[in-house]
Amino acid sequence: MKAIVVGAGIAGLVAARQLGLAGWDVEVLEKSSAPRPDGYMMDFFGPGIDSSERIGLYPRLAAVAYRVEAADYVDAAGRRTSSLDYGQLARLAGGKVLSLLRPDLERAALAALGDVPAGRIHVRYGARVARAWTDDGGASAAVDGSPGKVLTADVLIGADGVHSEVRAHIFGPEQEYLRPLGMRAAAFIVRDPRLNARYRNRFVLTDSVDRMAGLYSLRTDEVAAFLVYRDAAAGRNSGAQSVRERLRREFAGLGGAVDRLLELCPEQPYDDVVAQIVMPDWQKGRCVLVGDACGAVSLLAGQGASLAVAGAALLGDTLGPVASPNGIGVALGQFERCWRPVVEVAQRAGRRAASSFLPASHAQRLLRRWIIRATHVPGINRIVARQVLRRIG
Ligand SMILES: Cc1cc2nc3c(=O)[nH]c(=O)nc-3n(C[C@H](O)[C@H](O)[C@H](O)COP(=O)(O)OP(=O)(O)OC[C@H]3O[C@@H](n4cnc5c(N)ncnc54)[C@H](O)[C@@H]3O)c2cc1C
Repeated sequence: MKAIVVGAGIAGLVAARQLGLAGWDVEVLEKSSAPRPDGYMMDFFGPGIDSSERIGLYPRLAAVAYRVEAADYVDAAGRRTSSLDYGQLARLAGGKVLSLLRPDLERAALAALGDVPAGRIHVRYGARVARAWTDDGGASAAVDGSPGKVLTADVLIGADGVHSEVRAHIFGPEQEYLRPLGMRAAAFIVRDPRLNARYRNRFVLTDSVDRMAGLYSLRTDEVAAFLVYRDAAAGRNSGAQSVRERLRREFAGLGGAVDRLLELCPEQPYDDVVAQIVMPDWQKGRCVLVGDACGAVSLLAGQGASLAVAGAALLGDTLGPVASPNGIGVALGQFERCWRPVVEVAQRAGRRAASSFLPASHAQRLLRRWIIRATHVPGINRIVARQVLRRIG
């Protein structure tokens, strides 16, 4: 049996590995010329932990995880206004919260392809799928820049993220499925040994209204930054020449550390709408979507990467044992039936978080401080921390 996987991100690599282990031949097509180095720090907990333990990926993830002691909210003078104890959150999650840099997670999944017998999985970087289609006899994909060359397989797996082109070709245009949550997020990594030394082992988040900047020191002398702001600001600043200019205007006045991040910010960092993908069907003919492509929960749910790993592992479980094309439809249906309820719960959590993630007023900011401080009060700390665990990062 043969599969084409579009996207060598988290979901694509895990799906490819699991199918390869089950004996499938897998062609992975990735539009980036190499594994993407850009990224942000992520909390990884819940289904992704269970699945990665089950499929043997967990030790590779634990080996590259960062130690986070706390998430500190700070004012413009750099003074701490409230602090979340990560140890307590981890204990509530059964000791299992990993803090992972997105590219580290992707590289771990790539390295894990080495568990599959040689020759079964081919990963092609610099191969953007420009067209995809499916019929009862199989599925096909055409790669940009290779006119006339069409790849065919028994199954096509669209693991190409929130702006999936496979979805656009086979299920319909993005606007039918993309649900913006009123914010944008930017992320980038800068090199600054002094900033790095100042904030080791802590997430630092600005305690600000309508926008939030976060940073985390990496093992090198680098700092990972992420910035979340109201979507209206993108329109307001549309005269800006670059994403960097827009971010500099939007995040002015948040203190020296943020000023320094923006001074070092690349001209066109990652910057995208914060959104979910909601679709009535995840499969059509011999094509199935997995990860953000069909069920993005958004960074507000804090579980997208975890669900990408767990969903891809489940797809491997259901599709892997299929030995003839006749069994594919049933397997894909079973995958969607099992996995959709889990994704929908996380999407609801993400939508709920949308109203409180960025305080819209000083009063809301004070309320958030109070809630976070309550995590330190014996008795109510467990209840509050449980709520927070549904949405950290
Ligand atoms: C700022 C931020 C913070 C986040 N924090 C967290 C967190 O704390 N915890 C968490 O669990 N999740 C978090 N997430 C979400 C998480 O990053 C995503 O849910 C996860 O990366 C989805 O994985 P994926 O494999 O489905 O898609 P992606 O990682 O987007 O991978 C898709 C791949 O497909 C490739 N591709 C796209 N189109 C094509 C094409 N036409 N042809 C070939 N290749 C193509 C892309 O280059 C990419 O490599 C966060 C996201 C953001 C933006």
